[in-house]
Amino acid sequence: MNATTVSDAAALDARDLYRFFRAGEEETLALRGVSLRVRRGETVAVVGPSGSGKSTLLACLAGLDEPAGGSVHIGGERISHRPESERARLRAHRIGVVTQSGNLIAHLTVVENVRLARGAAPGKSKQPVGELLEQVGLGHRGHALPRELSGGELARAGLAVALANDPDVLLADEPTGELDGSTEQRVLDLLRSRADASRGVLLVTHSAEAVRIADRVVALHDGRIRDDQR
Ligand code: ADP
Repeated sequence: MNATTVSDAAALDARDLYRFFRAGEEETLALRGVSLRVRRGETVAVVGPSGSGKSTLLACLAGLDEPAGGSVHIGGERISHRPESERARLRAHRIGVVTQSGNLIAHLTVVENVRLARGAAPGKSKQPVGELLEQVGLGHRGHALPRELSGGELARAGLAVALANDPDVLLADEPTGELDGSTEQRVLDLLRSRADASRGVLLVTHSAEAVRIADRVVALHDGRIRDDQR
């Protein structure tokens, strides 16, 4: 792939993803041929009922899980079907992930968690950590441990860690699930500003407000894309 193709590439390009889980005799097809593209500057909301494959999709896009079939490219670089060390490097440099299980180390403060994430891609982001925490509304909570934070603060600390290295793509599972109305608005504004800065943003969400700010809404049903609307 030449340099032009790379720079023109979508922020995220997933093609024909398959993922199944086997438990004894039973097989669950969690993803059945999902193709999804997030352009630079675009915010995509993924919606769907529980069990439709949203978390599995997010994990495959982030390189945290490996699809059985299909491919995932981030900024033109393939992340699927590569050794974990290479996936981890790509994740550190190009992807911010907010998962529901959280991405914070329990015995480190918020600032230390952000610095730890920075250490995985040294020099990638020049933004002062204090400024990043201000953006997520945690300027005053940087020295708190995760257990000292409220649910909403935890969600925002996780977002700060995900944004620590100024990723090309932000993948977030219910990033506003724990937030009250005004804090949700603040986080959504921040996500929009990521897209405005030509990054790609993909949110798995149940929030009507998050769906409203998205450029596109992709509906998953039974491991397939049922609808993809602007
Ligand atoms: P959603 O995030 O939309 O609720 P998931 O991606 O978590 O959906 O799950 C999709 C389907 O895959 C469900 O039927 C779920 O039970 C199944 N599944 C997900 N993870 C596993 C796993 N680790 N082992 C077995 N089945 C799984």
